[in-house]
Amino acid sequence: MVGESIERTVVVVGAGQAGCQAASSLRQDGFVGRLILVGAESHLPYQRPPLSKGHLTRTAPRDSLWFRPHAWYRDNDVELHLGRTIDAIDRTGRTIHCGEQRINYDVLVLALGARNRALDVPGAGLEGVLSLRSLDDADALLKRLDTADDIVIVGGGFIGLEVAATAAALGKRTTVLEVSERLMGRAVSNGTAEFLLQAHRSRGLTIELGTTVVELVGRGGAVEAVLTSDGGRIPAQLVLVGIGAAPETHLAAEAGLEIDNGIAVDEYLRTSDPDIYAIGDCVSCPNPYAGGARIRLESVQNAVSQGRLVAAAILGHPAPYDAVPWFWSDQADIKLQIAGLSLGHTEVVIKGDVAARRFSTYCFAGERLIGVESVNSPGDHLAARRLISAAETVSPAEVRADGFNPKVAARKH
Ligand SMILES: Cc1cc2nc3c(=O)[nH]c(=O)nc-3n(C[C@H](O)[C@H](O)[C@H](O)COP(=O)(O)OP(=O)(O)OC[C@H]3O[C@@H](n4cnc5c(N)ncnc54)[C@H](O)[C@@H]3O)c2cc1C
Repeated sequence: MVGESIERTVVVVGAGQAGCQAASSLRQDGFVGRLILVGAESHLPYQRPPLSKGHLTRTAPRDSLWFRPHAWYRDNDVELHLGRTIDAIDRTGRTIHCGEQRINYDVLVLALGARNRALDVPGAGLEGVLSLRSLDDADALLKRLDTADDIVIVGGGFIGLEVAATAAALGKRTTVLEVSERLMGRAVSNGTAEFLLQAHRSRGLTIELGTTVVELVGRGGAVEAVLTSDGGRIPAQLVLVGIGAAPETHLAAEAGLEIDNGIAVDEYLRTSDPDIYAIGDCVSCPNPYAGGARIRLESVQNAVSQGRLVAAAILGHPAPYDAVPWFWSDQADIKLQIAGLSLGHTEVVIKGDVAARRFSTYCFAGERLIGVESVNSPGDHLAARRLISAAETVSPAEVRADGFNPKVAARKH
């Protein structure tokens, strides 16, 4: 516990994963000042990962989505303002604006998240053309899934594939259109992308690579079919657009804060204004796992780690952000877990049984282990996080050797 003597007002804007973590950590770590959490959405703050997983299969009850019950905010003296969009920051007056309302701050934390990229083709506004970021989006998707027989997912990234796998499991005719020649952009190695392609196809999903949408056609205002770049026409009563997200930077840019692929923060999560921090999906931050380059991550790990770190910094214990990046994705019976950043790898070593869908791909840049992608191998993933953060870690030869055990290696390094 770290106490503080001068009472200050901390305002956190954005009541998502990062903002809620920051508020929780501030109270847990002894912040005694005024704490205000403002969020544009009207729901109790909730986690997003189940929206493309258990929420769609109706296995995650609504109550399990909330980070905290309502009483927690009251009991911990967190002033929760929901359904409020902050429209301006007055840095000189240290005040934020919400319509006519003004809220003063001593320290401001921006945790604004990201917004989905929109599809820019004729017909994109038709009923039944959806995207998925919020609980309201997820509810609309769920409703449409009940009645649609033909579904087209635009974009073969994490969210698109998770929804596609669920739709196919529900017996829907599902097609994924991916503009590039492989799935998952540059987030995983070629081998893992190819494995996912084959696994999903074997389960009945249609995946068309190198193909995109040129137009959505409708009848009576609702989508009926997707016209593709290769001249195809695919029937669809539901089109989910999953073509990535852009950081929410508008508010910060208007306030004159530095923007660089997100709100630019230093390794202590400070923006170009010393009274304003920024965390989560909306920021780009120097990252030791990217060789110190400024990168933007969209993951629960990043939001939680930065939420904790910003609380410590506000309480006078700043530390540089150096958490190992990790991520997971559940696609039907495939649990993919990624540790580190494999972008730029020069060599891969695959361990385990690919045919049995239990294996890990170790990605190296030269002799250095930079990323591990594990399929249905949670033990490998946990060990990988430790191996990647170790100063002296395993070489390709050590991993390739018979009898390599990542847990034993993680204990050694
Ligand atoms: C469907 C889905 C599935 C996902 N699955 C996974 C997964 O399996 N694993 C994983 O690691 N990550 C996953 N993610 C990503 C993860 O949820 C995000 O990285 C994480 O939520 C980021 O937290 P954040 O607080 O930065 O942003 P968010 O959680 O998006 O919260 C930002 C909040 O700020 C609010 N806001 C924005 N502007 C304003 C304003 N001006 N005033 C007031 N409020 C504002 C927004 O309304 C939003 O509620 C998933 C995301 C989605 C959408």
